[in-house]
Amino acid sequence: MRWEDFGQSVNVEDRRGGGGGGFGIPMGGGLGIGTIIVLTLVGWALGINPAILIGGAEMVGRGREASIERPAPRPSGPIEDEGGRFVSAILKNTEDVWNELLPAQTGKPYREPKLVIFSGATRSRCGPAQSAMGPFYCPLDQTVYIDLSFFNEMQRKFRAGGDFAYAYVIAHEVGHHVENVLGLLERVQRRQREVSQVEANQLSVRVELMADCLAGVWAFHSNQRWKSLEEGDVEEAMNAAAAIGDDRLQKQSQGYVVPDSFTHGSSAQRTRWFMQGLKSGQVQSCDTFRVSRL
Ligand SMILES: [Zn+2]
Repeated sequence: MRWEDFGQSVNVEDRRGGGGGGFGIPMGGGLGIGTIIVLTLVGWALGINPAILIGGAEMVGRGREASIERPAPRPSGPIEDEGGRFVSAILKNTEDVWNELLPAQTGKPYREPKLVIFSGATRSRCGPAQSAMGPFYCPLDQTVYIDLSFFNEMQRKFRAGGDFAYAYVIAHEVGHHVENVLGLLERVQRRQREVSQVEANQLSVRVELMADCLAGVWAFHSNQRWKSLEEGDVEEAMNAAAAIGDDRLQKQSQGYVVPDSFTHGSSAQRTRWFMQGLKSGQVQSCDTFRVSRL
């Protein structure tokens, strides 16, 4: 994924203290047949001529062996480690997309969320945050919380690494913020207090799959304006969506404990809704509450 030109968000708070590290962006190699198939898939998904995309990817492929630096830990000041800068860049890009897109498609102005990078544990208005919880969004302080070690876990435990896979995780949390701005989270939470646990979980699945779809909508527009998608990116995100689906997670006896792990939808559902957003670029296409079968 090309993210170096996104700029940096002003809404990131770095609470790590000890600085970043331990996060590398895997660089793509040559253009194999698998890549071409994936690019064709991307082209199909986004309605672009695959040949153009392949040409673009070739150009991007060269000169991208940029060094992955591990700067010395710094307690405060601007974020300079690659992991932190990556998260900030993706957040900035979601701001640019949603600031324009949300009013245009829904008539509602967008409010930018905050994002806290922490390590180990921190506080949120929704309660204490621990890295073992995985990334999450707290509607009360409109903040995304993330410990970058989650990306290493995705790579190591779920084999779902890659910069676009990580971007998808951030975009999914931002998707929850979009749901919040639209007033949907509040409506769902009110309803969940009135129904059975099973029904409440089903509502949660719809909220999660909508966030996946909204992540796809972001990716569509980011790619349209910044040509940010590269070879294998969509495959990466779909792999990540599948890897962190409930059914797959439950098979992992150890690893990250996602608090609402029974409420995210199956791997197939997550992949399908992400692709739905990626193909349409339309917020309206993400209304998981309108369909009877997810
Ligand atoms: Zn979620």
